[in-house]
Parts: sequence; structure tokens; C-alpha cells
Amino acid sequence: MVRERKITARREDQAGDDDEISSLQSPVASNDDAGSAPSTENDSILRPKRIADMVGQKDVMEVLQIAIDAAKKRSEPLGHILLDGPPGLGKTTFAVCIPRELGVKVDMASGPSLKAPKEIIPYLTNLEHGSVLFIDEIHRLPKPVEEFLYTAMEDFRIDIVLGEGVNARTLNLKLQPFTLIGATTRAGMLSAPLRDRFHIRQHLGYYTVDELVEILARNAHKLKVELSADAATEIATRSRGTPRVANGRLMWVRDYAMSKGDGRINVDIAHRALDMLGIDEIGLDRQDRRYLETLVRVFQGGPAGLEAIAHTMSVSSDTLEDEVEPFLLRSEYIIRTQRGRCATAKTYQKLNVMPTGTSSVRT
Ligand code: ADP
Repeated sequence: MVRERKITARREDQAGDDDEISSLQSPVASNDDAGSAPSTENDSILRPKRIADMVGQKDVMEVLQIAIDAAKKRSEPLGHILLDGPPGLGKTTFAVCIPRELGVKVDMASGPSLKAPKEIIPYLTNLEHGSVLFIDEIHRLPKPVEEFLYTAMEDFRIDIVLGEGVNARTLNLKLQPFTLIGATTRAGMLSAPLRDRFHIRQHLGYYTVDELVEILARNAHKLKVELSADAATEIATRSRGTPRVANGRLMWVRDYAMSKGDGRINVDIAHRALDMLGIDEIGLDRQDRRYLETLVRVFQGGPAGLEAIAHTMSVSSDTLEDEVEPFLLRSEYIIRTQRGRCATAKTYQKLNVMPTGTSSVRT
């Protein structure tokens, strides 16, 4: 499930080219990804094009609609927007839909790819009046790049130093007023000066089963596959409140239905397809369960440090922190304390292990 993002930066014109957008988002394919993430091609088909096509996140949508409406009426650029939340909940989708609502262009970049201020300069100087610059994983911007952004965000100007030593001089460059949309899975890692420069800060939460059912029904229609209502509920319940996961699982179940059945997805097919991938009744996959087992069996339920768990599992700590832990925390399978991660009574129950660290199995 290790998910890497292609660190490419490019322009999306107003007509929209979701193949490119999805290349920023799509995972590098791996066996473990089956049932978790849709392919690049399908991701681009499934991504909503307008805010009105998006499901859920009602509070966030309301705030953004008001801000968009006001910006349009004033004919001014929208204020800078920060979106935070676990992966797959719609941050990039909002960043693609907002410029469409405004009728402006969007350039897309990724925090880790902007290694030095000089790498962000072309993005800034190419911006048109009112256009949008989207920076994904903005918490991973190196400090000098972040500081370079301050004046760009606040005064729409940048200072470029030309030459070196005694010959150095500073060029003060005016930028077109623009909107920065930043996305982060770790709002807590953002420095206060950067965070404060965003006019609108919104947190994206997990989706309800009903919302995921709606997304699945719409996407089954887009994919021209027959999906029964109870099968949609089954997939939604096992998708960890995350549209990207739901889409990936729909895609897998579709393949399964084609291979093992007549192509139609009923609840029995959905059940068998998801069971085959080791996805349990609440959507935890093998990696989620390995995390819980490691915490309980190796670390006697904790407290255990993230790095120690990551090393034991041979998984990067970023993957655990971004993709595994948020849902386990939300579902109360783990808690985070100052001394490390701890299993809860619910985890012991799930693993059928007594909370004594003796691993005695309950009957
Ligand atoms: P993030 O940027 O937060 O990691 P994305 O915006 O890339 O997540 O969302 C992943 C996929 O989930 C999208 O391609 C889209 O198909 C689907 N998705 C996300 N949010 C919504 C939504 N509100 N309504 C419908 N589909 C959504």
C-alpha cells in the first residue's frame, strides 16, 4: 500500500485534463494496491468535475461556495485555501473543481518537488490574474521555499536575488493576484506563519456509509457496471470512510464479477471479492491488521513509537502515519499518547487476544 506520488508539475487548462491530474495522485501500482486505489485511467473518469458533482463534505462545500460566489461578484481572486485531512478524501478534487467554478486556470505542484525557491519561481511568474496554484503535500515544502511564498501570498510579489557576493542585487517582481490552494495530510506540521496566510482553512473528514454508497452508485454508472443496492452498501461499509478506497474496491469487485460471474455486482460477489483481498467487515485490510498485531504481540499493546512499529513492519513511518493510523485512531483501535501508540480494548477484542500481553486466545 505504499503510495508514491509522481512529483511532476504542470498546467491544467480550463477544459481540464484529468489524466494529468490523476498522474499526480495515482499510486505506483503494486499487488497490495489491489482493491485500494483505482488505476490512473479510472481515477480520471471517476473524479468529479464540478463541486456540484461532489458528494458529502457539506460544511466544507458551503464555505467554499460562499467564498467562490463572493470572489466572483467582486471580480477578485479567491482568498488562499488550505485543505487538510487524510489521503483520498477529496483535497485534490476540490482543487480541481474550484478553478472550474471560477473559470480560471490551475497549475499543480507538489511540496517535496519544490526543493529550492528557484523551482517555485516559474509557477509564480506564470500565474495569470485570478488563477490557482495548487500545492499538494504543502507540509513538505522546504523551509526556504515556504518563506519565499510568504510575500507571494501576502503582497503578490517576490524578491529574486541575482548574482552573488558584492555583485548581488535584488529584483522585486510583482505577481498577478492569484489563489494558493494548499493540501496537507498533516495540518499540525505546518508552521504558524504559513498557516495564518491562508484565508480559508478547512478540514475534510471521513465519509458516511450513505455518502460512499452514493459515490459508488454514481461511479458504477460511469463505469457502466450493474451494482445492486446491497452490494453498494457492502463495499461502502468496507471502504474506511474514504472515496479513493471505495473507488479502488469497486474496481476490484468489478474485475471479480467479470471473471467469476456475469459482470453484474451483487452482494454475494462483493462479499467474496473483498474477502479474497483480506478486507474485513469494517474495511481494514491486511496492512491495518498487521499494524494492530505488531502493536499487540510485539509491543504488548504499547506504548510504542511510530518508528519502532514501522521498522518492525518494514513499512515507512510516513505510510503508517498518513494512511494506516488515521482510520485506526478514528475507529478507536489505537490511541496516541506522548509515550507512543497504544492498543485499546477494542483491538484486543478484534484480534481475539487477552490484554495481558500473554497472547492467550479467548474462547
Ligand atoms: P486527496 O487529494 O484528498 O488525497 P482526491 O481528491 O485525489 O483525494 O480523491 C481521490 C478520489 O476520490 C477522486 O479521484 C474521486 O474520484 C474520489 N472523491 C474524492 N472526494 C469525492 C467526493 N466528495 N465526491 C465524489 N468522489 C470523490
